Amino acid sequence: MTRPPQHRPVIVVGAGPVGMSAALSLRALGRPATVLEAGEQDRLRPGSRAIFVHRATLEVLDRSSPGLAGDLAAHGLVWQTKRTFYAGRQVFARSYPPPEPGALPHFTSLPQVETERYLLEACKAAGVEFVWNSEITRAVTGTDGAELATVTGDRWTAEYVIAADGARSAVRRALGVTMAGSRSDGWYVVVDVEETTAPLPAERIFHYAHPAVDGRNVLLVPFAGGWRVDLQLHDGDDPERLSEGAGLRRWLRAVLPPRYADRVAWASTYQFLQVVADDFTDPYRRVLLTGEAAHLFAPFGARGMNSGVPDADAAATAAHVALSTGVPARARAAVEDFAISRRRAALFNRDAAGDALAHLRPDAEQRVRLAEAARGAAHDDRLGHWLDTAPYGPREIPPGNTVYKY
Ligand SMILES: Cc1cc2nc3c(=O)[nH]c(=O)nc-3n(C[C@H](O)[C@H](O)[C@H](O)COP(=O)(O)OP(=O)(O)OC[C@H]3O[C@@H](n4cnc5c(N)ncnc54)[C@H](O)[C@@H]3O)c2cc1C
Repeated sequence: MTRPPQHRPVIVVGAGPVGMSAALSLRALGRPATVLEAGEQDRLRPGSRAIFVHRATLEVLDRSSPGLAGDLAAHGLVWQTKRTFYAGRQVFARSYPPPEPGALPHFTSLPQVETERYLLEACKAAGVEFVWNSEITRAVTGTDGAELATVTGDRWTAEYVIAADGARSAVRRALGVTMAGSRSDGWYVVVDVEETTAPLPAERIFHYAHPAVDGRNVLLVPFAGGWRVDLQLHDGDDPERLSEGAGLRRWLRAVLPPRYADRVAWASTYQFLQVVADDFTDPYRRVLLTGEAAHLFAPFGARGMNSGVPDADAAATAAHVALSTGVPARARAAVEDFAISRRRAALFNRDAAGDALAHLRPDAEQRVRLAEAARGAAHDDRLGHWLDTAPYGPREIPPGNTVYKY
């Protein structure tokens, strides 16, 4: 006999950073929040992911969970100096004063696994219901809401579903929503190394054409407890050889003091997707797609989680408004506003991250421009500033966004 479905007003699918942010926003709005997660409780999520949490993200999280931003900032790291090198020569450096005591810093650099730990604690304290081992395999929507089914045959119904089930989103696929965009053809090796007992100064360093690694670009970013090292491969490089064993240790020793080569926590190879869902909702306006279920960007510029958190907050607000109004047209409009505004932001972020990728893979003309800028940087600070900032894409906020930076 099949079990009857369980009902909740709003269900969040996925307990990644975006799903947990959505749950916190729902609780802050006075709504119950239930999160269905495929993984088991206390699952370990391997791999290098977000480290850079922008202040705008901290502010959104702190509105729904007062004190959370302070915890993330206190446990993260803020580097005060950034440097850019071209072919081994420094072309730009800037230092900033330390964050004001008691104020939120401009950013905090913290491994995603830690950010998720604090989010989970905040969710539990706020009374969020988690249902682990609940992989959604089916989603259908209709005029009254959505129905979900798990791999074990459990069924759930809700007036609204916030889909935060990541890049391979089963909810998005079940609804037939497609993604549009491209995949970069260049490869990157991304490595996290643990800090040693003799820590390096916490500085963000970008090398164009690092001479010790045959002119490949290298980005070094400190985070609480370690370093993120991105190596941009040349065309024709073997990603596997440079991400494992002796091949990995050889280039790591060339860009960091040798003691770090034996402290590798994760090493992964990437070709980055730059894609956005064609719609952030379904025809009945019952499912709201958020985070990587709705968009994937290259990580330069740190727009993934930093835009997923505002997606989550906007989705929770839209679901709350839709549940509060007795007028179906207003409920539809709330979800449509969410879908249009967050998709517009995602397209902007995709293109901004795409600009960063294009800068990192210059054509012949751009290569000349970069070399000229590097030559002129000693006399013209604007050239050094351009070399320093361009690898992360434009800094403007998405058009029409008044509340969210990303
Ligand atoms: C190398 C790298 C560096 C990055 N650096 C940054 C950075 O500095 N700053 C930044 O903002 N972003 C960064 N990002 C991006 C960031 O990691 C992602 O944007 C973020 O993890 C997306 O969160 P999410 O919650 O949408 O998806 P996920 O983190 O993928 O979470 C999805 C959750 O849904 C669950 N799930 C999946 N399928 C189902 C299902 N069928 N049913 C139920 N549950 C399901 C999963 O188990 C998971 O818990 C980086 C990414 C990479 C790869």
